[in-house]
Amino acid sequence: MSKILIIEDEVAIADLEKDYLELSDFKVDICNTGDEGLKTALAGDYDLIILDLMLPGMDGFEVCKKIREEKNIPILMVSAKKDDIDKIRGLGLGADDYMTKPFSPNELVARVKAHISRYDTLTSKSGNVITIGKLMIDKDAHKVTVDGKEISLTAKEYDLLLFLAENPNHTFSKEILFDRIWGMDAIGDVSTVTVHIQRVRDKINTENERYIETIWGVGYRFNI
Ligand code: CA
Repeated sequence: MSKILIIEDEVAIADLEKDYLELSDFKVDICNTGDEGLKTALAGDYDLIILDLMLPGMDGFEVCKKIREEKNIPILMVSAKKDDIDKIRGLGLGADDYMTKPFSPNELVARVKAHISRYDTLTSKSGNVITIGKLMIDKDAHKVTVDGKEISLTAKEYDLLLFLAENPNHTFSKEILFDRIWGMDAIGDVSTVTVHIQRVRDKINTENERYIETIWGVGYRFNI
């Protein structure tokens, strides 16, 4: 049974969401503040988090960012204001979906189900093989395939792809990527990152899948 955490300060809304999700056989916990929600999310073994934006104390932006630093589980953010949703998108906080209140509980349940099943299918790690959609990275063999076809990557392209794929849904700045992949004593500058990202994209992107997303003004992230 999948476990959902609702972080929502409006008790009536949280209870309504909980009722509907329980009818669909989810196990649901509720936290009413951002601080408590963050603590519970990090400590628990949840399959998805429904996160309200406006919360007393730590707000949803901050909670989302902090959860993403440690976990890759789907986060569905909800807000009463359409403008907020645009802001969340722009910030590249790593939320997987956004809903504007009021929404129908049935739609919420449908989206929750879709995200959980997508996450389950897309992420499967067995031993040293990472499979995300059609992309497979075999760490032992140092081999990358897309849809069964082997892709030839340079050492740095491979390191960059592996780093992003092992930390999905997390936005990294060019500076951080340069530091992690090339190291402090590297020759070159952060524009190297842009060039390598483009090369990796050209090699792994397929018609239907765009693995690496550019978060303008922030950096790059690998979406699952
Ligand atoms: Ca609220």
